[in-house]
Amino acid sequence: MKCSIQGCPGEYEARSVMHTVRREGQVIVIDHVPADVCTVCGDTLLQPDTVRKIATLLQQKRQPASRVPLYEFA
Ligand SMILES: [Zn+2]
Repeated sequence: MKCSIQGCPGEYEARSVMHTVRREGQVIVIDHVPADVCTVCGDTLLQPDTVRKIATLLQQKRQPASRVPLYEFA
């Protein structure tokens, strides 16, 4: 599928990405999320089904698989 960003000649390609959500001041990272990523600009599309699964996962408040160090750029 062609990229939806105006003027970008890229195509979306099925990949596994790391998805970051900021929720109630907390950063939550979900790894190995299936997504369509543009090969040129990196625009990422999640299928509605994937978005739904992420919402369910966040509601479950399961114990995280690991803790990620978070650094401020500045
Ligand atoms: Zn693109």
